[in-house]
Amino acid sequence: MRRAVAALHAELTRYGLVAWTAGNVSGRVRRPEASGDLVVIKPSGVSYDELTPESMVVCDLYGRVLDGGLAPSSDVAAHCHIYREMPQVGGVVHTHSPYASAWAARGEAIPCVLTAMADEFGGPIPVGPFALIGGDEIGRGVVATLRDSRSPAVLMRNHGVFSIGATPRDAVKAAVMCEDVARTVHIARQLGTPVPIAAEHIDQLYDRYQNVYGQR
Ligand SMILES: [Zn+2]
Repeated sequence: MRRAVAALHAELTRYGLVAWTAGNVSGRVRRPEASGDLVVIKPSGVSYDELTPESMVVCDLYGRVLDGGLAPSSDVAAHCHIYREMPQVGGVVHTHSPYASAWAARGEAIPCVLTAMADEFGGPIPVGPFALIGGDEIGRGVVATLRDSRSPAVLMRNHGVFSIGATPRDAVKAAVMCEDVARTVHIARQLGTPVPIAAEHIDQLYDRYQNVYGQR
C-alpha cells in the first residue's frame, strides 16, 4: 500500500490536478476487526518529486501516526473520518484541481450534461458544505454529501475536490474524471447552455459503465 499510494501521487501531477505540495492520496489497509484498519497517506508539505514508499505515513483510523518519520497530510482527519464512516471506501483523494475548484468557488454543482459524467458519476457532481481544515468538519461534510449520492466526488464549497473509491486508484480516477468534466462543462458554458441528459438515460449509461464496460 505504501508503494501504491506513493506511485498514485504521480498521477495527480501527470493530470495537472495539483500545484506545489497541495493534494493528497490515501489508502486503507484492511485488517481483522480487533486490530483495526490502517491508513497510508502522504506526508505533509513534502514535494511530489520526493515522495517515496518509505516517506508515506501510516496511521490508525483516528489519524494517530503508527509508522513513519514525517507528519501526515494536514487533511488526515478528513480522510480518517471518511474511512470510519464509509466502510466500503478503500481510497480517498483530495485536490484543488483548477476547473473543479472554480465550480466549488461558486458553490455550484456540475450538471450531468456529458455521457462520461453519467458513466462515472451517475448524475451531477454535488457541492458539499463550507468547512474549516483541521478537525473532522471537512470529513463530515464529505460523508454527508456522498452518502446519498452515486457520485464518487464532491466539490467542497470554496475549497476543492474530495473523491472516494473502493481502491486508491479508483479514487484517483474519480479525481481525474472530475477535473476533466469540470473543464469541458465550463467550456460548454462559455459557448451557450449545456443540454441536460434525461434521467433515464443517465441511469442506463451509469448501469452499463459500472456493470458491463471494460475487461471482466
Ligand atoms: Zn485542500
